[in-house]
Order: sequence, then structure tokens, then C-alpha cells
Amino acid sequence: MSTDLGARALHLLQTVFGYPAFRGHQAEIVEHVAAGGDALVLMPTGGGKSLCYQIPALLRDGVAVVVSPLIALMQDQVDALAEVGVRAAFLNSTQTFDEALRIERQVRTGDIDIVYVAPERLMTQRCLDLFEDARISLFAIDEAHCVSQWGHDFRPEYIRLSILHERFPQVPRIALTATADQLTRDEIAHRLQLTEARQFVSSFDRPNIRYQIVEKTNGRKQLLDFVTTEHAGDSGIVYCLSRKKVEETAEFLVENGIKALPYHAGMEHAQRAANQARFLREDNIVMVATIAFGMGIDKPDVRFVCHLDLPKSIEGYYQETGRAGRDGLPASAWMAYGLQDVVLQRRMIDESEADEAFKRVLSSKLDAMLGLCETLSCRRMRLLDYFGEKSGPCGNCDTCLVPPVSFDGTVPVQKLLSTIYRVDQRFAAGHVIDVLRGAPSERISQWHHDTLSVYGIGSERSEQEWRAILRQAIALGLVTVDHENFSSLKLTEAARPVLKGEKKVQLRQYQKPVKQKRQTASP
Ligand code: ADP
Ligand code: ZN
Repeated sequence: MSTDLGARALHLLQTVFGYPAFRGHQAEIVEHVAAGGDALVLMPTGGGKSLCYQIPALLRDGVAVVVSPLIALMQDQVDALAEVGVRAAFLNSTQTFDEALRIERQVRTGDIDIVYVAPERLMTQRCLDLFEDARISLFAIDEAHCVSQWGHDFRPEYIRLSILHERFPQVPRIALTATADQLTRDEIAHRLQLTEARQFVSSFDRPNIRYQIVEKTNGRKQLLDFVTTEHAGDSGIVYCLSRKKVEETAEFLVENGIKALPYHAGMEHAQRAANQARFLREDNIVMVATIAFGMGIDKPDVRFVCHLDLPKSIEGYYQETGRAGRDGLPASAWMAYGLQDVVLQRRMIDESEADEAFKRVLSSKLDAMLGLCETLSCRRMRLLDYFGEKSGPCGNCDTCLVPPVSFDGTVPVQKLLSTIYRVDQRFAAGHVIDVLRGAPSERISQWHHDTLSVYGIGSERSEQEWRAILRQAIALGLVTVDHENFSSLKLTEAARPVLKGEKKVQLRQYQKPVKQKRQTASP
């Protein structure tokens, strides 16, 4: 029976979807769900989650219901299925009442294989009644991490999805997500009543992606150097935090002879769509974008993804960099990161409307991201470890290729902390570094800071080196920036044992950027 199911699944994969073989866990998942089992599937973006429910939908009698919060993508998904002859439709708020009526009729009569619904729609009495009248083959819950209250994408309606188990106990359910650490995974299983479901966890490793994180000195210029030396003539994506920076960076690249286009949510819809279409169609093209860009983008030959600003979390970083090298050929994930990024991201959390508990979650996500930036060991190990996967050094990231030099930074950090203390924790980074370096300035004379014992105790280091040390001190939680008071630097409780010499601090040596040899994309 089960091998028969397997054979039929493979046949559908080949004849309907046109692929020769299943990838990774796909075959197992398809068989398990088609046979009526519940499943929780963790697979990175681009791993092929859709087929895990689309093929069982065709193997089982009735209509498959796919719950997805991504209304904007439903039309594309339905069109793609229609192209291969699968009868699919969606129910969401973008359609007219008449259209919805027509789809509902098809669901009731079973003249359709797959119907996509938004969670808020599914929860209506009308929709639940409809599904009770119809014959449902399975429920697929896409983006299942939306059930997690601690995640960025929390959707309250997702919590109510446990109703599916109560009202349709005989219908198999498959929950899928690309982002879930162990905690979120447990939360999904618990909240969706999938604790008995089989879990399929794929590796998150993308071995063809080389990770590089460099210290930001002049981000745009570093970006240009990176693109021209390592990826001349390649297509790529550059992520920036703000719309303004997107526009400026795209212009800068164009001025320097690179075919670059901007993309952000503030642009006129038609222009945005046109830029996206060009990016998908053309070669040798660079999209400069906010994170609004990328959802559902399937361009296999993106050779590099760059970040000019620090992402808020490792999940975000992984998802964005994951758009590189979908074709399996060598690709780069490159990021420039500096003191200003840490300050800005911390500030965004402080100033957000979120409650304290949620701010703590955001903060710990940022800390994990900073840990990846400051790590002295393999970036990939660190990244995979975050997703609960153990691995060894990869040999294909910057820290493996050019191991960072670390040093006992206790003394310089003590100098920094003392200086912050001596200026009464009332001054921002620039001034503190001036005092450390004994640089003359009007403000220093005005405040008589040249008479302090700490004045000039750090003259042996450049401003850039002190910025790197301060950045790490902030990342390590020894120093905070008080955004309410002119960005003045303040000491935390954690600074005390370091100042008293009870705790040592290991730092990453500031390194002048070194050029690495170009990666070729030939297999
Ligand atoms: P996800 O939802 O996990 O991000 P998708 O389901 O959108 O991934 O699949 C990503 C891409 O991989 C799509 O272009 C899809 O057609 C392709 N794909 C999925 N499974 C296979 C397979 N077994 N063989 C070849 N291509 C596949
Ligand atoms: Zn490595």
C-alpha cells in the first residue's frame, strides 16, 4: 500500500510538476500526509515546502485547504498551479462577493483540488460550515510560526487554528515553516495540537553560500568594492533599512556603472512592479531594497545578497541571505556592520511601542544577531547552532578563510568604561573617544575634560579601533546608549566586574579590510 502511494506520488511529481525526483524529506512527508498522518515540517525557504501538501492534495479525495497569511501571494500560487493543470482557487478579502460564492460552490461540489484561505477568513462561521459540508482532504497550515506569540509574525487568528483539530479530527494536518528555533517549534506543536504529529526537520545549511561580515567604515564604498571585485557582472540584492538609503544606494551604484534598481514600499505600485519584473527577467542586475522585497521571489541565479544595515534577527538575516544561490552554485552573503548599527537597532527596540516582555524578546534576538557578527568562530556553525543544528567549521566563510585575531581586551575595555564613568555618563561616543585619545576639541576644554586622569589614556589606538571596541562593549552588554539623553553612553551592571578586574573580556581585533579572491560560479 505505502509503496504504491510512493509510486503514485512520484508519478504526479514527474507528470504534473515536471520534476524528476523528490528533494530531501519531500517523499517521506508526502507519503506520510497522503496516508492520513499529521506532520510538522521545518524546511528552509526555497526547500520545496509547497509540494509537501500539493501532492497529497492530489492523492487524497476531496479539497485541500491551505491556510496562509500571505494574501498577496495567493494569486501567483493559484496561477502557477493552474499552469500545470491543478484546479486551485483562493478565498480572501481581495475578491468580490460573487467570486467568493463561485469558489464556495466549487468547494462544496468538490470541483477543485486546492483552496487557499486567509486565517481570519477560515475562522468565520460561514467558512467553517462550508468546510463541514464539503469533503476536505487535508489542512495545510503554512507559515506556522505565526502561531508563536514571541515571533515577529504573530497572528492572533493562528492560535485559534486548533479548532481544526476539534472540528475535523479525521482530516490530516500539515504545518509548515521556514523559521523556528526549538522553542518556537514546541510552541507550534503545542498550540496547533500537533504534539503527536511526526516532525520533519531539514538541514538549514546552504553550503554554497559564503558568509562574510566586515566592519563598516564607508558602507557604500565597501559595497562597491565588494561587488566589482568579487561579483562583477552578477545579479544580486542589496538590503538597506530605510527607503531613503535604498534610493541613495541605487543611485550611487548606477553612477558607478552598475545596473541597479530601487525597491521599497513607498514607491508607486506600478514602478515597484516594473522593477521587480526587470530583476526577475534580466541578467547582471542589482536590486537595492528594503526587506519589503523578496517574499515569493524565485530568481535562481542571485549570486550575492548584501546587507548595508544590520538585520533585527538571525531569522531575518537567514531568510534574506537565503535568496542567494538557489541554483546551488557558489554565492555570497556579505554584510557591512558597525557601531552605528548596534546603536540604531537598540534604539528602535527602546522606542518601539511593544510591551516590556516583547522588548526583551526583540533584544535577545538582536543579541543573537550581534553574536553572529562578533563571533571568533565559524559563522555557519553559529548560524546553524541558532536553528538547533550542530556542525563543524565550514571552511567557506570569512572567519574560516581568514581567522579573526582575538586579544585580551580587558585593559582597553577598562579604559573605555572608566572614561565613560569619568565624564559622568553624560556624553556620546564621539566625545568619549576624543577624551580617550586625548584629542583636543572645544567641548573638551569647555567641560575641562582635558584635566581628567583618563584624558589621553587611549592615545595608542585610532578612532576606528576605539569604535570597534565600543561596538563590542555594547554588543556584550557592558555599555548602553541612552537615547533619551543625547545618545550618552552609560555603564550597565555587567560593567562592574570588568572595571574591578574580576572579569576578562576577549575582543576581536580590528582588521583593515582585506580583499578576498573572487569566487567563480562555474560548478
Ligand atoms: P518554499 O515554500 O519551501 O520556500 P517552494 O515550495 O516555493 O519552497 O519551492 C522552491 C522552488 O523549488 C520552486 O521553484 C519549486 O518549484 C522548486 N522545487 C521544489 N521541489 C522540487 C523538486 N523535488 N525538484 C525540483 N525543484 C523543486
Ligand atoms: Zn566557516
